[in-house]
Amino acid sequence: MNTYLKTKTIQIDGSQGEGGGQILRTALALSMLTSIPFELVNIRAGRKKPGLMRQHLVCVQASQRISNATVEGAELHSQKLFFQPQQVQAGHYDFQIGSAGSTILVLQTLLPALMMQDQASQISIHGGTHNPMAPTADFIAHCFLPTIEKMGIHVDFECERAGFFPIGAGQINAVIHPWTKQTKYTALEKGQVIDLQGYAAALNIPDNIADRELEVLHNKLNLNTRKRINFKGISQGNTAFVVLNYAHHQQVFSALGEMRKSAEKVAHDLAKEVKAYLTTDAIADEYLADQLLLPMALGKGGEFTAQIISEHTKTQADMIQKFIDCEITFTELKENNWQIKVSV
Ligand code: ATP
Repeated sequence: MNTYLKTKTIQIDGSQGEGGGQILRTALALSMLTSIPFELVNIRAGRKKPGLMRQHLVCVQASQRISNATVEGAELHSQKLFFQPQQVQAGHYDFQIGSAGSTILVLQTLLPALMMQDQASQISIHGGTHNPMAPTADFIAHCFLPTIEKMGIHVDFECERAGFFPIGAGQINAVIHPWTKQTKYTALEKGQVIDLQGYAAALNIPDNIADRELEVLHNKLNLNTRKRINFKGISQGNTAFVVLNYAHHQQVFSALGEMRKSAEKVAHDLAKEVKAYLTTDAIADEYLADQLLLPMALGKGGEFTAQIISEHTKTQADMIQKFIDCEITFTELKENNWQIKVSV
């Protein structure tokens, strides 16, 4: 286990770096792990509608519930928050976002604190499962969780019902097991490509939307398998995703259907992202890169390669180094291939 920096309340300016909701979620996760209280000002100052939105508020409330925290400023649109946790309790929890806000981002807020407990936790979160600007349930199931499993983190995950904007009403269930065997994560080369799998789903809208997407994906990427999947749920929506299986890594790219965007265009844009990744040697895409930093910093560290270092990733690294005694460095190896090292 790392030696955490011992300080009084940490002051955080939410307008730093990217100025988005990740600063809040990371602060909550790290505060619960280290027992260091924080005061966050200028919450989501970089966004058009600053302050706590529903999904962010649920992250605060859920964190408060599992850590019995003292909290001030937990209201919709609040731009200032004080959070002082007590002991985190493993257990059975059920959280309702009450909108289509991302269930996955709530799960990622709670995961670090719960995986560090001696007992497993079982949590259900209700809301959106396929949101823009957030990992989809498929990305979590086929990319994020298989990657952190290599660090020894074990989570059983299922998307029981899909939830799309604006109705949401999706449900994810997760069993978070105690992290008993921490392993250093070293992943510099992805190895040979084994296969490319394309999936698409259309929930309560015509199935041919998914079929057309699969057709375009196959034409552009020469998929090894393609499959239309059936989601349960009461909202309406569409997603397509590609699983890229390499000898040493499994990456996912996903897309969501949008009003006034044809299924062909959705699939075309997705195939373009996949092709860009296929031409690099890097392991992680832009999004997985920022999501791996925290589990690595909590465990044995390590190093991996990433396609892009986003502003989001840099902000995440700054936040982690505020709470934990570790060093995160980025070195450009060549175009579209960066080495990220987390030293603990
Ligand atoms: P806001 O930007 O409104 O403050 P937010 O807190 O929901 O809201 P971000 O701070 O941008 O959003 O964080 C979004 C998270 O979702 C990041 O961890 C990012 O890696 C992840 N993410 C975004 N898009 C994708 C995607 N297409 N696939 C996987 N993960 C994604």
